[in-house]
Amino acid sequence: MKERLDQFRRRAARYLGRDTVRVGGGRGVLSLSFDDFPKSAWELAGPILKDQGVHATYYVAGGLCDGTNIGKVQFSERDLQEAHAAGHEIGCHTFSHISVLRLDKAGLAEELDRNAAWVAERLGGHRMTHFAYPFGDVTVSSKAVTGARFKHARSVRDGVNHGPSDRNNLLAIGMESRRLPHYDLKALMAQTAETGGWLIAYGHDVEPDPTPYGCTEQDLVRVITLARQAGLDILPVGAAGQRMIG
Ligand SMILES: [Zn+2]
Repeated sequence: MKERLDQFRRRAARYLGRDTVRVGGGRGVLSLSFDDFPKSAWELAGPILKDQGVHATYYVAGGLCDGTNIGKVQFSERDLQEAHAAGHEIGCHTFSHISVLRLDKAGLAEELDRNAAWVAERLGGHRMTHFAYPFGDVTVSSKAVTGARFKHARSVRDGVNHGPSDRNNLLAIGMESRRLPHYDLKALMAQTAETGGWLIAYGHDVEPDPTPYGCTEQDLVRVITLARQAGLDILPVGAAGQRMIG
């Protein structure tokens, strides 16, 4: 019963409480992002990003620091500081990595406050301006909270953002071993280029033997290569948002 109610609430968030912005029209953009984040998203993916000359976005949940999640060691404070110093963006992913389905408005606000303080303390007062929903769960009431605090927020629902879009429920594709085989990446990149759209990719671990939620180093390189071949610019989420939706 609860599961059906959750499903209903997730679906309602697609249609209700939308804050519509118009995305695109110019040159298409790919953004790369990593959620939580597993240590390998920095230790193994970081050198690839540097090599490729691109910046990504790390959606951080402070409560996962030095812990494990989905069986993977998570980032350390040093990883976070190194990623930030290397020019990658840091975005918010709640403090406790909790679904918004399990939080009321005050509870979500508390989570966001706590993560903001935790990150600011470790990154010289850095203020996070965008958000990724843990587990991709989005509700109507959570959009009101994130919308008041952040420029935009990202789900995990498949698709290219172009035309009228809900800034508090942006679409994304998973750089995940469970999802990647089912995408036609070339077609998605071509669609992004044609519409001047915004394709946001998210992942977790980046390892030779990734979890269902992660990908290999080769997968990451392939996504970057295909985006370049399609003529897309590659920008982190915040920088892309500034260009795409102002
Ligand atoms: Zn997450």
